[in-house]
Amino acid sequence: MQFKDIIGQEEVKRRLRETVRQGRISHALLFTGAEGTGALPLALAYAQYVNCRNRTEEDSCGECPECYRMQRLEHPDCHYIYPVNASKEAVATGRADEKPRSEQFVHLWRQMIPETGGYLTEQEWYARLGIENQQGIINKSDANELVRQMGFKAFEGGYKTVVVWLPERLHETAANTLLKLVEEPPERTLFLFVSVEPEKIIATIRSRTQTVALAGVADDLIARELVARRGITAEGAEQAAYLAQGSWGAAVRLATGTEGAEGGTAEHGERFIRLMRLCYQQKYLDLFSWAEEMAPLGREVQKQFCIAGLELLRACYLTGIGLQRLAYTNPAQERFCQNFAPYVSHATVEEFVREFELLLGHIRQNGNARILFTHFAMSICKIIGTARAALK
Ligand SMILES: [Zn+2]
Repeated sequence: MQFKDIIGQEEVKRRLRETVRQGRISHALLFTGAEGTGALPLALAYAQYVNCRNRTEEDSCGECPECYRMQRLEHPDCHYIYPVNASKEAVATGRADEKPRSEQFVHLWRQMIPETGGYLTEQEWYARLGIENQQGIINKSDANELVRQMGFKAFEGGYKTVVVWLPERLHETAANTLLKLVEEPPERTLFLFVSVEPEKIIATIRSRTQTVALAGVADDLIARELVARRGITAEGAEQAAYLAQGSWGAAVRLATGTEGAEGGTAEHGERFIRLMRLCYQQKYLDLFSWAEEMAPLGREVQKQFCIAGLELLRACYLTGIGLQRLAYTNPAQERFCQNFAPYVSHATVEEFVREFELLLGHIRQNGNARILFTHFAMSICKIIGTARAALK
């Protein structure tokens, strides 16, 4: 990974290059940023820059043996730690450890980093591990292995680099072991932590690191780069950038239609449109079937449904107040918005949003999905019913 592979973040890159130039390389950095802002690829680019034999003022060379091995995620002096878990079936049938280590999944890591350009989300990672509805964890065995590895000298005489992706998932025992290393690091060691929710990192580790904070990527930059790097049309790029809210990763998924295995944004929108129509027609039995269909989808997919639904509600509302040009919708959605705009008025929009927020909150807390979606469908029905009555 090179600096030029990361979208925007120019000021942060400049400061990172500066630390190398001045020989002020901090031994523990904490890269923080929302998903899709580029914290992970930037940490990887920094690791490569530090280790490159022919780096320039601007970037690593991308061609020397160090760069070559860093790019393939095969450098013997660079270690990667990330949350993992084994599926319940794999553990039950003895195919996997109950507390696996990062290294056991390094082949997937080496697949996914190039595939996503490092813009990898936690959920995409879990999906690849086959554990969509479980959370990953960094186990103590990982930290122990690291202590062992750190006992050796760097093979190539450069920096020993440890990239810890999502330290918020460190098991407490693992964090304590790691803390000792961070507190008293062997010489020429570089810890690069990459976090989405830094406030959840154990404080003793966080306080030992220097923060490198990434902001969201500007919409116009995302749109421009989608056109330049991905060949997306200007209009498609603009829509994707708008919906992605500062996340390059999300923008790419939206623009290229690779939003999750169980359907893209359009498909989530369809689910919401169907719900609204069933509510309008008061087809209660069908509403129960709708909830039955939603329940088994992964939690992440359910969250994406909520986001797509909220986006459509917003579009309905904008249509109702004559600002449909601000709503990014496809033709089918546009028709839906025109039909439903009268019910998504100033008076009801907050109620709709509240129901979505409740649903999202319960999904996060892992509530019983069938009950949640049935309740949600009934609540939406009630709001539409009241709105219809008021319009009569
Ligand atoms: Zn190089």
